Amino acid sequence: MNNDTSLERHQMTVRQIQARGIRNPRLIQAFESVPRHLFVPEELRHLAYEDNALPVGSDQTISQPYMVALMTDLLNLEGDERVLEIGTGTGYQAAILSHVAKEVHTIEFIDALAADARLRLKDYKNIECHVGDGSIGWPEAAPYDGILVTAAAPRAPKAVLDQLKVGGKLVLPVGGEGYQMLEVWTRSGDRFERRVEIGVAFVLLRGKYGWT
Ligand code: SAH
Repeated sequence: MNNDTSLERHQMTVRQIQARGIRNPRLIQAFESVPRHLFVPEELRHLAYEDNALPVGSDQTISQPYMVALMTDLLNLEGDERVLEIGTGTGYQAAILSHVAKEVHTIEFIDALAADARLRLKDYKNIECHVGDGSIGWPEAAPYDGILVTAAAPRAPKAVLDQLKVGGKLVLPVGGEGYQMLEVWTRSGDRFERRVEIGVAFVLLRGKYGWT
């Protein structure tokens, strides 16, 4: 891979993301800008723009670019929102969110991953990285217009749903090891409406409302 990765990033955006129906211009622009190769381990950089999830250490993965795009798209962001990501991992999803929302909070359970992500994200002024159990959300900055959970939960945690604004959306994979359904929850007043999108495969959510 040569040093100019913009062509690979453009091809990734066109073939993997636009070709699958993602249209939001600001989201497309985010994928054109964020250098995904800097979010994967050095020995895997040549694979950074492929159509796959990749292992990133500590038994965790960076999601497939299209999955990052789809989950972000499902939040219907217009640019003025405060969002929460649960499961920072490498920080790539948070970097994408930072282009399409006003304020991004992201929380990671594993200290070493959180420390690396914080370094990678230090120039993104609208992202705040937190360390801790995100299965209970991040009440300190609630309520949110949108919440993404990038690890598989046994069910949508009530504590997290309660951190949504009215009209806000929670997107999360629900299910056990290896296969889950991507759910979208929308808050209207004190009621929550659930829609099921597609089958997905994420690593497991840990912590109080995760898998033990
Ligand atoms: N969004 C990431 C990929 C997520 S992989 C990216 O863009 O790279 C799932 C992440 O969720 C892992 O880093 C895992 O450690 C983290 N995780 C699992 N349980 C968690 C919890 N209870 N709170 C916060 N993070 C958690």
